[in-house]
Amino acid sequence: MLSREPSRHYELGVMGGTFDPIHLGHTRAAAVAQRELALDRVLFVPASTPSFKRDRRIAGACDRLAMVRIATADEPLWSVCAEEIARGGVSYTSETLEGLSTCLPVNVRLSFILGTDSLATLPTWHDAGRIAQLARIVCVSRRGEDDDAALRGVETSGMGFEVSMLSGDVPDVSSTQVRELIREGSDVSRLVDPRVLAYVRSHGLYRDGDGSTGCAVQVRR
Ligand code: ATP
Ligand code: MG
Repeated sequence: MLSREPSRHYELGVMGGTFDPIHLGHTRAAAVAQRELALDRVLFVPASTPSFKRDRRIAGACDRLAMVRIATADEPLWSVCAEEIARGGVSYTSETLEGLSTCLPVNVRLSFILGTDSLATLPTWHDAGRIAQLARIVCVSRRGEDDDAALRGVETSGMGFEVSMLSGDVPDVSSTQVRELIREGSDVSRLVDPRVLAYVRSHGLYRDGDGSTGCAVQVRR
C-alpha cells in the first residue's frame, strides 16, 4: 500500500512509546509531524517492556495495545504495529526500525517521531548509531523541555542523526500525569480520548497504582 508507485518516494512516520495510556499529546504530536512533513502514513508501535521503564510496573501490553488501537482508529492513514509486543521482552527501537526497513520497499523512508525528552536521551539508546542510519528523527517539541539542549546533545553525539524539529499545538500532558489524575478520581477528559477513557474505566486500569490486568497477549499483526 505504501509502494504502489515504485517511482514515488514514500514517507512512513513511526511513533514508539509505552502509551500507558495513550493521550492527546501522543496523537497531536503524530498529527503535527504528519502535517508538517507530509508523511504518507504513521505507524504507532507500543513497546513490550520499554528499556527505560524496566523498574516500573506498567499496564498489560494487550491493554496498552487496545487503547492505542482505539485512539488511532478514526485516522485512515494511521495504523498500529504490534511487533514489539509480539517480540516480547525489552523493546529496542533499533530492532523495530531494522525489521521495518527489511520488509518495506526501498522507496519508503522512515521518520521516527519522538518528543523532546526522548530526543535528549536518544544518543544513549541501545544501538543508537543504527537508529541514525535507519530513520530520520522528527522531534515534536514537548512543553517544559529544552529543545535546544536536546538537539545540541544529539548533534554533538557524532552519530550522524538527521533531525527535524517541529512545534505545534500539542497539549502539555504525560501518561504519568494521566495515571495520577485517574487514580485520584480527577477529570482527564481534556487529555485523553473519551473512548480510551471508557476502556480505562471498564477495565479498571490505574485505580490503585498497578494497571496491569495480566491478560494473555493475543497479537493481531
Ligand atoms: P510517561 O509519563 O509514562 O513516560 P509519556 O507521556 O512520556 O508517558 P511515552 O509513551 O513515554 O508517554 O511517550 C512516547 C513518545 O511520545 C515519546 O517520544 C515522548 O517524548 C512523546 N510524547 C509524549 N507526550 C508528549 C507530548 N505531550 N508532547 C510531545 N511529545 C510527547
Ligand atoms: Mg515518557
